[in-house]
Amino acid sequence: AVAMTGGQPHDGNLSVPIIARQLAAEGVQKIVVVNDGTGRAYERSGLPNGVPIRHRDELDDVQRELREVAGVSALIYDQTCAAEKRRRRKRGTFPDPARRVVINDRVCEGCGDCSEKSNCMSVVAVDTEFGRKRAIDQSSCNKDYSCIKGFCPSFVTIEGGQLRKGKATQAGGDAFDRLPMPTLPTTRTPWGLLVTGVGGTGVVTIGALLGMAAHLEGKGISVLDMAGLAQKGGAVWSHVRIADRQEQLYAARVAAGEANAVIGCDLVVAASDESLAKMSLGLTRVVINRDQTNTSEFVRGFAAQARSGNVQVNPDPIFPGRSMEQQIVEAVGEGRVEFLDASRLATELLGDSIATNLFMLGYAWQQGLVPLGLAAIMRAIEINGTAVAGNKAAFQWGRRTAVDPAAVLEAARPKSGLPAHHQLSTSVDEVISRRTAQLTDYQNAAYAERYARLVARVRQAEDAVAPGITLLSEAVARGYYKLLAYKDEYEVARLYTDGDFLKRVEESFDGDYRLVFHMAPPLLARKDANGHQVKRSYGPWMLKALRLLTRFKPLRGTALDPFARSAERRLDRQLIADYEATVNELVAGLDPANHEAAVELASLPEQIRGFGHVRERYHASAKQREALLLAAFRNMKAPAASGQARPRKTIAVIPG
Ligand code: SF4
Repeated sequence: AVAMTGGQPHDGNLSVPIIARQLAAEGVQKIVVVNDGTGRAYERSGLPNGVPIRHRDELDDVQRELREVAGVSALIYDQTCAAEKRRRRKRGTFPDPARRVVINDRVCEGCGDCSEKSNCMSVVAVDTEFGRKRAIDQSSCNKDYSCIKGFCPSFVTIEGGQLRKGKATQAGGDAFDRLPMPTLPTTRTPWGLLVTGVGGTGVVTIGALLGMAAHLEGKGISVLDMAGLAQKGGAVWSHVRIADRQEQLYAARVAAGEANAVIGCDLVVAASDESLAKMSLGLTRVVINRDQTNTSEFVRGFAAQARSGNVQVNPDPIFPGRSMEQQIVEAVGEGRVEFLDASRLATELLGDSIATNLFMLGYAWQQGLVPLGLAAIMRAIEINGTAVAGNKAAFQWGRRTAVDPAAVLEAARPKSGLPAHHQLSTSVDEVISRRTAQLTDYQNAAYAERYARLVARVRQAEDAVAPGITLLSEAVARGYYKLLAYKDEYEVARLYTDGDFLKRVEESFDGDYRLVFHMAPPLLARKDANGHQVKRSYGPWMLKALRLLTRFKPLRGTALDPFARSAERRLDRQLIADYEATVNELVAGLDPANHEAAVELASLPEQIRGFGHVRERYHASAKQREALLLAAFRNMKAPAASGQARPRKTIAVIPG
């Protein structure tokens, strides 16, 4: 087999009908063509008799059918590679629909169903005060749109208009002119520079630019690119060696322990064994982009969790940023590594995360890690001929960050600041007060008071058993809130129309656009063969309907509430009642020995995620866990003599 993921053309004329006819001629029993339903240059009539074209949504069914076929069967999957689409769109040779997906992360429940449906690296995690939610990375999005099928009302497509440009897309200006010139390293002996990053983000371009710049200066250079998968997410290393004369460079690779400098455009790749092996204590200096990049493990983790609904079996993927940073520091020594939030800064300033690597190069150059002159690098960017102004600006902003980080942070600050729900509470008091305020908006002051009263009782009980410890109080503050603020029709409507979401859309897009909502309103949605509601698209009129709906939130749960009798809403109310009963039991029976089980019990609502049938899965798993924990809580009472025990010393053995 030949895998061509780098956009190489293949020799000869090899179309889907030709492949199908060849397979048929070779006696393949059953052939199925699967594609994404977009226009194709072949018709069913061009295929051999009996070869169907099926939509990719049916891929799993097709595979199951084919495995039952005796003899050889073939599935021809026909779809333009995601990386190739992006490449062609940049060159203007592939349709680029004026349609972008956004997620209202206040509506999002973090269930992962969109990752399950799309398997897409551009659906990224975003940590908020109310849990880990999802967002679309607009810079890397390939406009595949399959994430919209995630079962929730969080998705909106922006149709028409365009993404706003960054705040500082043009290079130039006094600030850049005034930047001091760094002392560049000598190249009397070869200088080894390793550039690491993720395929598709321009790591190879950095090597190519340095190659051209060295050529312009008459220096010797070798650039060796080593790539994993070229598609999004694969690790890439660019080995760059620079010397006064070409004949000084005997080897193209930066050998083990011989990197003078590492530009880590991605933390995960920079902390890989392959990269660490090139670093050396006391020799190597490193600059690292510490912003988290979605990895395929993350996407698989989210998808697996959505499929099982079981947070015990498929826990939330954790980005091991701290430990990776520590590994790099240990490899080169204290004071030799600099970490910066390059993706965030570059995206805010330049409007596209693709600017990150040039930004990193500028930073590293200003720190004296690249032995080539400014004029040569700028000229190399011009000769490269792609996004010249943006690339120069990215390089200069990187330089400026090395000199005056405060000014750059200020320039990159979002116009209306960080959204309130992206700011994380720093104390349990803050956790409680923010949620009390939210519940007042959700329903009314009495509803918020109901919340505050129960949480206060828990604090009192916990303080009596474990003075100074607030783990249970915080767990109840978060868990009880999550259940009380269930996302029914009124709440979803409020979260779309209270101004925050629309303001953020306006800040990100300009031009003439319309909002299209992707939802399954219970009174309008039809059901599929599995009894699951089916999402549909609703035009801008939906916003007016949502505004109207918010006015009726006082009806929530009353006899006049048209949604109150649905199974989903009945479950919401039942969960609240059950939780209140459980917390009352925790308060009455809390002691140091069962404190840990109590904390986990109180946290369980955070494991009930999503909407409709997805939420049912999570709920079923949480219920099983609850039964185990309740039994543990009831059995693990401290004997009277051990009344002095501290909760943190308790070892609870609860089946996982
Ligand atoms: S609620 Fe679930 S499906 Fe919807 S955006 Fe959030 S994670 Fe994706």
